[in-house]
Amino acid sequence: MIKAIKGMNDLLPQEVERWRWVEERARQVLGLYGFSEIRTPIVEHTDLFERGLGQDTDVVEKQMYTFPDKSGSSLTLRPEATASILRAVIEHGLLSSDPIQKLYSIGPMFRYERPQKGRYRQFHQINAERIGEESPFSDAECICMAYDMCKAMGLDELSIEVNSLGCKECRPAFRAALKEFLYKSRAALCDDCKRRLETNPLRVLDCKNPSCREVVRDAPNVEEYLCDACREHYSGVLRDLDIMGVPYSKNNLLVRGLDYYTRTTFEIKAGGLGSQDAVAGGGRYDGLLKLLGGPDAPGTGFAFGLERVMMLVDAGIQKQQGCFVAAQGNPRVKEEAIRILAELRRAGIGAQAVFDKSLKAQMRRAARSGYRFCLILGEEEVNRKEVTVKDMDMSSQIRIPRDGALSRLRKAMEEGELYKGNGKA
Ligand code: AMP
Repeated sequence: MIKAIKGMNDLLPQEVERWRWVEERARQVLGLYGFSEIRTPIVEHTDLFERGLGQDTDVVEKQMYTFPDKSGSSLTLRPEATASILRAVIEHGLLSSDPIQKLYSIGPMFRYERPQKGRYRQFHQINAERIGEESPFSDAECICMAYDMCKAMGLDELSIEVNSLGCKECRPAFRAALKEFLYKSRAALCDDCKRRLETNPLRVLDCKNPSCREVVRDAPNVEEYLCDACREHYSGVLRDLDIMGVPYSKNNLLVRGLDYYTRTTFEIKAGGLGSQDAVAGGGRYDGLLKLLGGPDAPGTGFAFGLERVMMLVDAGIQKQQGCFVAAQGNPRVKEEAIRILAELRRAGIGAQAVFDKSLKAQMRRAARSGYRFCLILGEEEVNRKEVTVKDMDMSSQIRIPRDGALSRLRKAMEEGELYKGNGKA
């Protein structure tokens, strides 16, 4: 038997229902903030990620699915979405029609990581990018929007961590001080960090290795190295978060994995996830658009990990609205049932039926359909121009006139607290 690739999961129909619910919630929040959807290809030229994310990042060094196509061009399955979205913004000159772009996308990403709970090789992200704004307000709104999305999905025990990494003016001094400090404890660092010390010392700050964590506890604090402009920006972000009522804590070790961040970085963690507890992360990436060949426009954004959200979302949230139709009797009964099915769907009510089974088997299917109501037709109902409506949740049924049955059903669906009880058919 050929199986799916390790770390890449099928989403079976029941799970997809829950995914759609979560995505819908996210889209609602994105809409409230004025974001529009963009869809980019899942494969890009390798250069885009090498240039965008930085050669010395874990993603580029170790995690990309890179392969030559038939013409020998090096292509890569996207490991993240920001570089692709910015490429599209540049390629289509979107900033010339509107210098502020608020874009989001939802889709799969690919990273060759060691699969574990909450970490996969194909995983899904919701990405939001806000291009063209320099103000701290736009960073704060990004964080606030990510927080609102978490709440809309019903996540709790949320904690938001914020940091500022400075800009190209002030970061070199911090980097030098950090490097000097880390050199003194080089022996205690893990092999990866010994290497990072040369190439990307900031990454040592968020290494998960216990011995590295111990070392960085006394590391220089980035906040003390911020230039005046970065300091002012950072305090503006925190001030606006306070005004927006978003709870946060500062974490001066929060670097995040990709090289493009400048100034603000943030991460949202949720309870109940174990070690992979970050559901969303992002920050500011001024300079990235220019690096990718575009105008020198600033940007902020974040990515939301859907697999992690799905581990927390209540499995019972999604029950379909609709009605099963069961029928038994002479051919007229089936004809009437087919007519009703078509009417239900035309009225926007989901409907299903399976006529080649006994009524008992049909009722079993009705129970499995997830619908709350079942319309039952027999010869008596058809002769009397009536239908029987069964409320599957309440295990009760009544017979009502065929005329007006659909509007009555709809009313019961709207008013009846459908899946929580108390509705009368
Ligand atoms: P990043 O793109 O690395 O900034 O990550 C943003 C979010 O994507 C994280 O907070 C996770 O929720 C999610 N994520 C990143 N990598 C993975 C992965 N390998 N498997 C599942 N989710 C991931």
